[in-house]
Amino acid sequence: MGVLDVVVVGAGPAGSAAAITAARAGLSVTVLDKARFPRDKTCGDGLTAQAVRLLGELGLDASSIVREAGGTRVQRAVLVGPTGRQVDVPLADGLAVVAPRRTLDAALAARVHDWGVDLREGVAVREVVPSSDSVKLSLDGSEVLDARFVIAADGHWSTVRRALHPETPPDLGEWHAVRQYFDDAGDGRLWVIFDGDVLPGYAWVFPLGGGRANVGFGVLRADVQSTKRGRDLKALWPELLARPALQRALGANAQPSEPVRAWPIPTRYDASSLSDGRVLFVGDAARVVDPMTGEGIAQALETGMLAARAVARGGGVTERYRSDVAHALGRDLRFASALQRILRHPLGARAALRAVDLNAWTRRQFGRWMFEDYPRATVLTPSRWRALRTAS
Ligand SMILES: Cc1cc2nc3c(=O)[nH]c(=O)nc-3n(C[C@H](O)[C@H](O)[C@H](O)COP(=O)(O)OP(=O)(O)OC[C@H]3O[C@@H](n4cnc5c(N)ncnc54)[C@H](O)[C@@H]3O)c2cc1C
Repeated sequence: MGVLDVVVVGAGPAGSAAAITAARAGLSVTVLDKARFPRDKTCGDGLTAQAVRLLGELGLDASSIVREAGGTRVQRAVLVGPTGRQVDVPLADGLAVVAPRRTLDAALAARVHDWGVDLREGVAVREVVPSSDSVKLSLDGSEVLDARFVIAADGHWSTVRRALHPETPPDLGEWHAVRQYFDDAGDGRLWVIFDGDVLPGYAWVFPLGGGRANVGFGVLRADVQSTKRGRDLKALWPELLARPALQRALGANAQPSEPVRAWPIPTRYDASSLSDGRVLFVGDAARVVDPMTGEGIAQALETGMLAARAVARGGGVTERYRSDVAHALGRDLRFASALQRILRHPLGARAALRAVDLNAWTRRQFGRWMFEDYPRATVLTPSRWRALRTAS
């Protein structure tokens, strides 16, 4: 095999989005994933309107997510504040879908195959050797692939990043989150629960249909000193599950159906970590998760698509990729950081909930804002915000 245009490492949302976009643009592309699909990914399984839109662009629209990936459209969300205040938020159709990552990622990987892309499952990258005009990747076994560009979509612990910088200690991520699947749980609504000692973190109950629910919580490591590792978070889990708001959201008959899992969430967006020579980092490997909510699927899809487009256009690839990501996500991620600082304080969380609960219009708009019917930072640009007001 000669020099490929691009090798994508990882076939989660970021890698699959990159692979499909590269194939569409006519690039020669090979994708590697150390796992075989279907595979699990510790996640809340929540898709915002933006994630659903981007998946649609990749050939997996909302109906396919429901049909092929076992997705559930959610019509109502419930927010619970630190004082127990409960706000019911209506969600227009298509704003929020919950789909298990096991089936969602498999459906997306199937779209990669549909494009005739060479997707190799059960193959891990071991070594990365960059040079001035290409990057060589050593795989399990003795095979070596040579590519003009590598798109590293290999998640939080990015093997590619560690191979390029073995001296740098592993990045533990700013958030850490726990997930457990339950049966006979919830009431079909999507619950988000803010409790004083885990703020700006929160617990969730996301409905999966048929009484199944994805249940979990995430915290900022810096704020919860005793929970530095996944092990510590798992120990906190039974205590959180017993709290009244979570009990109310789960219902009396809820039973765990799978073991508890924990995984870090990288939210430190910084343009300089988006690329390294001919390697472009996307998704969790690029640390572009929303620092307020811990959502990263839409950002993974978007950065994957932008990276592949930058390679396809050629000339100044890394500069173009960095500026495209800054344009698409920079303002929203910075805005989310500022909101995260407000939510750290129970008073801030209480005030935010009061503002959401002012009237039916604020509750409806909050649903659209929260589930990314438009970029979240739009509220900072009055002309765009006024246009939304008149449109609704
Ligand atoms: C508990 C929890 C809850 C979350 N809830 C939500 C939510 O509700 N909504 C949301 O939008 N986001 C959520 N997130 C964040 C979301 O899960 C991630 O942002 C998203 O999965 C990032 O996608 P990715 O493609 O970058 O990486 P991943 O989904 O992690 O995919 C990386 C892929 O790379 C492969 N790989 C790794 N190393 C190698 C290697 N050496 N060689 C080959 N392949 C390799 C892996 O097998 C994997 O398939 C949550 C995260 C956590 C931890």
